[in-house]
Amino acid sequence: MIIIGAGLGGLALAHGLRERGVDVTVHERDARPGARPQGYRIQLDEPGLTALRQCLPAELFGLCLATAGAPPARVSVRNRHLEVLADRATGRTADPTAGFEAAGVGPRAFDRPTLRRIMLLGLGDRVHHGAQLASYRHEDDGRVTACFADGRTATGDLIVGADGVNSTVRRLLLPAARVEDAGLRLVYGRIPLDGRARAALPGWAFESIFTVVTDGPGKAHLGLGPVEFATRPDLAGRARTPALDLPPAHDYLACMVGAPADHPAMPAPADLRTLPPAALRELALRLLGDGWHEDVHRLLARWDTASLFPLRISTSAPVPPWEPGPVTLIGDAIHAMSPVLAMGANTAVRDAAELSRALADATGPGPGLARAVGVYESRMRDYAFPIVADSRRTGQQRVGQR
Ligand SMILES: Cc1cc2nc3c(=O)[nH]c(=O)nc-3n(C[C@H](O)[C@H](O)[C@H](O)COP(=O)(O)OP(=O)(O)OC[C@H]3O[C@@H](n4cnc5c(N)ncnc54)[C@H](O)[C@@H]3O)c2cc1C
Repeated sequence: MIIIGAGLGGLALAHGLRERGVDVTVHERDARPGARPQGYRIQLDEPGLTALRQCLPAELFGLCLATAGAPPARVSVRNRHLEVLADRATGRTADPTAGFEAAGVGPRAFDRPTLRRIMLLGLGDRVHHGAQLASYRHEDDGRVTACFADGRTATGDLIVGADGVNSTVRRLLLPAARVEDAGLRLVYGRIPLDGRARAALPGWAFESIFTVVTDGPGKAHLGLGPVEFATRPDLAGRARTPALDLPPAHDYLACMVGAPADHPAMPAPADLRTLPPAALRELALRLLGDGWHEDVHRLLARWDTASLFPLRISTSAPVPPWEPGPVTLIGDAIHAMSPVLAMGANTAVRDAAELSRALADATGPGPGLARAVGVYESRMRDYAFPIVADSRRTGQQRVGQR
């Protein structure tokens, strides 16, 4: 099996298939892990944690949990004066077969680069970096060949596009599928939390797994989410037998300033992409403006300028059923959604678990494989597109998503 993209979905799928004895290779465009900013905090609750446990070897899943933080399982929305507008428990109803609630494992805040590093462990030479898919072709024997930008090829029974929101596989497989501008732009960065900084920061920022401070739809907002490692990743890795090599990482508060694309101070996407970190900081402060509670200004004074990068948020339109075959899609490649409900990665990892399960009994190309792919695709459409719609609705109400 050939997986295109070594994001959270693609890596979870690679593990899920290997656990079932399937031979997989993963082909990733980036030259190496960490070659570009990939984001900071990632929250997994149900169904992401259940799916991750189903895909990963127990040892690696244990390492994921050993490093993740467990902030209070609440999401809060406050106004610019910090009055609470909404406060709800997070974590969808647990899958009763998963045993997470019984095990006392609620939502977790992961550091995305650390989570990806852990998921790369154990895949060894099955992951090829610097491999950008350009196209694919169908072979006479029912197999498919992935063609990469540097001229290399790889042939297998199935190609899975786990290549994210701008998926090449989706463009080739489902050219009519629509990814839309959600009308939101973010400046994303982090506030480092050494001991003294943590003590100097307002306590409310740590009372929820994620807090949105909003000035209302159509205006700028601030998003905050603590990532406090249960055990520092390098130490957690070293404590395993055999020891596993993870780079050190330190606690931080993920901090983003978002605003609608049509905000008068917002540059065009092409200009936003080229702004250096110091200019992004200035832009974010201009978007927010004055008159916020002094805690907000106190927090932003500690925003690490070097950590800032811009994001354009996308969403997708539901795709009507298509004929299943030897090419399929998981994650953002098929159901991109705004991050408002923090469900994109949860759903990508769920896809990985669902597809691994569906493929477990299908060996070799042909109708059995297409049937298994069809079972996965049908289930995925049923659970994923309602979550996309839910994210859109919530984004419209809270932060002025289109
Ligand atoms: C600010 C922000 C915060 C978020 N927070 C959360 C959260 O807390 N919880 C949550 O569940 N979701 C969250 N999300 C959503 C989440 O990030 C995505 O849904 C998730 O990363 C999708 O995973 P994926 O594996 O499908 O795609 P990606 O993670 O985008 O991975 C795709 C991979 O494919 C590679 N690739 C692309 N094109 C090619 C090609 N042609 N050839 C080879 N490789 C290619 C890319 O380099 C990349 O490594 C957030 C999103 C944003 C923007």
